[in-house]
Amino acid sequence: MSTVVDILKRTESYFRDKGIPSPRLDAELILGHHLKLDRVGLYLQFDRSLNESELGPIREHVRQRATREPLAWVLGTKGFHDIELAVHRGVLVPRPDTETLVEAALALIPEDEALFIADICCGSGAVGLAIASARPLVKVFATDIDPIALRCTKENVKRLGLTGRVAVLRGSLLEPIPTERQIDILVANPPYVASAEIDGLEPEVATHEPRAALDGGADGLDIYRKLIPEAAKRATRAVLVEIGCTQAKAVSALMTEAGLHEIQSHPDLGGHDRVISGARLPEDRRPSEA
Ligand code: GLN
Repeated sequence: MSTVVDILKRTESYFRDKGIPSPRLDAELILGHHLKLDRVGLYLQFDRSLNESELGPIREHVRQRATREPLAWVLGTKGFHDIELAVHRGVLVPRPDTETLVEAALALIPEDEALFIADICCGSGAVGLAIASARPLVKVFATDIDPIALRCTKENVKRLGLTGRVAVLRGSLLEPIPTERQIDILVANPPYVASAEIDGLEPEVATHEPRAALDGGADGLDIYRKLIPEAAKRATRAVLVEIGCTQAKAVSALMTEAGLHEIQSHPDLGGHDRVISGARLPEDRRPSEA
């Protein structure tokens, strides 16, 4: 017989040997997931004994996590902003830093306005669906090129009860959104890691997560060069993109070149530049395009 506290201790030390950055937390999250307990609940049941049929699936998840598979893939879910998302193998795991993008967008969306939001490179759907959950009148176009990501976004739309307010579309950047459809605010967390840097990231990212969701070309800026000019033409109000913390200057310059105004950097909780936003001038203040 093994008790909760025994399993936690053993799993923690096994994870530590495997180089997992947060061995205790991950052990608690796996055990809590199987026993349907939060971390406090787990602590209250430290002496509970688990039988073999309870231990089997826990061992399987511990083994998977030890290969440095992202914990969200092993458990199949990830908390993000105010929602819980299904996250499957092959889909980029939503990061806490990306909540900065959600917050910056929400600051521009009044509770009572029925705006259209485009979430480009939507992955699991995290950004667009967190916005749709927080603003009951908005409608979202979510696009991605990857069928695995799109399947995951669609599942999350259902899971969160957002059917009817989110269109999930396959294609590159803005291409799948019909040109006659209005887009008020465009948000994107595109691939932005410089190609040569990916192999130096943690094994969860470098060997497991989808390269297409990370690789932004030689300097990490390839997608912004294509996306920002298109976004600036289409969005009637604002464009917001997540960036790598060294890219603020370059991405701000791309926004200026594309004719956006009031360009701002929004720091993440660690104080790093994480989001750049730019506003589209209202029609009557735009320089004539002729
Ligand atoms: N922030 C992610 C990472 O560092 C990168 C995500 C992206 O390229 N959009 O792993």
